[in-house]
Amino acid sequence: MKRCKVCRKKPRIRRRVNNEGILFCSDDCYEEFEDSPDDIDHPYINDYEAIRYEYIQWMNNYVDDLYMYWLYGAPKKESLLEQIDDLLGEFIDFYALEGQDGVFSAEIYNYLIDFEQLQKEIRNFEVDEKELKKRREVLYEEKRRRTEKEMWG
Ligand SMILES: [Zn+2]
Repeated sequence: MKRCKVCRKKPRIRRRVNNEGILFCSDDCYEEFEDSPDDIDHPYINDYEAIRYEYIQWMNNYVDDLYMYWLYGAPKKESLLEQIDDLLGEFIDFYALEGQDGVFSAEIYNYLIDFEQLQKEIRNFEVDEKELKKRREVLYEEKRRRTEKEMWG
């Protein structure tokens, strides 16, 4: 696996590339590397940054979101899947390109495939009873503390 140009770490969720395909692990490393002057004018830069941002948000939150249903009764799986459908719909042009129009189109296409994979994961998700119990306990504990605080100041 390729490593970050600046710090040599293996890029994970926050990976990013510049328009020459140079790889970074994060925005920080990307900004430290001062040799990507053309990125800002690239026709796909806004789409690239938008889908990358969404990807990072989803990867950081989807498990919590799935457990939210079991803890609070919402959101339903279907609603998460629909949100991703809507998102993918905004990038329909990039499906047609199949990643063939340069570095950013390739990255965007990969994100689209990853989001489809994420939809599969969400669809197949089954709650882990142990994990759910743990999350319930955290919630009760928070509630208990809040109540205590209200009673005793
Ligand atoms: Zn780095």
